[in-house]
Amino acid sequence: MSESYDVKVSLLTITPDAERVIESAGRLCWNTQDKTGTVPDRIHSWINIGHESMIEHACATFSIRGSRAMTHELVRHRLASYSQRSQRYVREDQESYLCPPEVRVSEEAVAAYRQAMNNAWGAYRDLLRQGLKPEIARYVLPNACYTDIICTWNFRELRHIITLRLSPRALPEIREVARQLRDIMKEQAPQVFADL
Ligand SMILES: Cc1cc2nc3c(=O)[nH]c(=O)nc-3n(C[C@H](O)[C@H](O)[C@H](O)COP(=O)(O)OP(=O)(O)OC[C@H]3O[C@@H](n4cnc5c(N)ncnc54)[C@H](O)[C@@H]3O)c2cc1C
Repeated sequence: MSESYDVKVSLLTITPDAERVIESAGRLCWNTQDKTGTVPDRIHSWINIGHESMIEHACATFSIRGSRAMTHELVRHRLASYSQRSQRYVREDQESYLCPPEVRVSEEAVAAYRQAMNNAWGAYRDLLRQGLKPEIARYVLPNACYTDIICTWNFRELRHIITLRLSPRALPEIREVARQLRDIMKEQAPQVFADL
């Protein structure tokens, strides 16, 4: 598949000087703080032996745009904080949905997919016109509906999420999210993420 999923991961904020904070925490265990910054792969060698608690001292916050199908899976990761666009308080008046590349390979599939989306949004608007609240009308909206979510994870949980969700067994859309997370984190904290 050459086309990829139309999802966007943006880094909002990250622990300043994260690798230094992590290394200082690790070195505290051996009272070798004075050697901080002297061994290039110090953090990575701790990770390799499973001594990982110090990487929990740094965290990153991302804004992620993708389908509700994908965010439903993402929020299964519990060591986290999430804030998501509400379908109870925000009207989804505009048809805004993700079309997987697997669908886009066939005109017939695209037409069927588009028809399903039109039907869902048609029913949604109809229910709103009848006076139902968005929180009730949303029951007819599809998993494909675009959503925005802000996620905060510590580096240990981020490594876990990236590893699990890059697997070929994972949903292709969440794999694309994991790929973008990995690329950002490799750049931001290479000592912690270079091996992923
Ligand atoms: C390929 C794939 C297929 C999947 N298929 C399904 C499916 O069919 N149905 C389904 O329901 N889910 C499915 N999942 C979701 C999966 O079961 C997990 O809920 C999800 O991946 C969150 O991961 P987690 O539980 O490791 O970690 P997180 O919530 O990210 O927690 C990180 C780690 O903390 C520890 N931890 C967190 N909470 C607890 C706790 N309460 N008790 C003990 N240890 C804890 C564990 O070591 C855990 O690995 C799938 C996931 C993948 C990657």
